[in-house]
Amino acid sequence: MKRQLTLVKNHWQEMLDHVSQQAPLEACGLLAGRDDQVKKVILVQNQAQSAVRFVMDPYEQLQAFEWIESNGLELVGIFHSHPAGPEMASVTDIAEAAYEVVHIIWSRHQNHWQARGFWIQDGGAAEIALQIVE
Ligand SMILES: [Zn+2]
Repeated sequence: MKRQLTLVKNHWQEMLDHVSQQAPLEACGLLAGRDDQVKKVILVQNQAQSAVRFVMDPYEQLQAFEWIESNGLELVGIFHSHPAGPEMASVTDIAEAAYEVVHIIWSRHQNHWQARGFWIQDGGAAEIALQIVE
């Protein structure tokens, strides 16, 4: 289990732009990196086009995985948004979590977005620290 994930401000901004542009639909994407360090944000279409769930476009997801592998990186995180809450990983998120990576949930409170990181395992979600550096 990871205890924290480190991102640079640009990664934060790329995710924020994506989730705010896609709202009120849920938005999603992948985080490539190494160990606890994000190196690249990869935006993925939400195939479900839904305000309450996301399904990553399988072709884009496959392309992303190939890119990650060919660049010698690993999948370190998955992010998605909850435009109408909750700010936690939902029951569905916990049930459907398919990868042992950090799950970042973006949630909206009026026009303000926030993100929290979770480690999902054994039917539960534990919050982990997201560290933003320059
Ligand atoms: Zn969710």
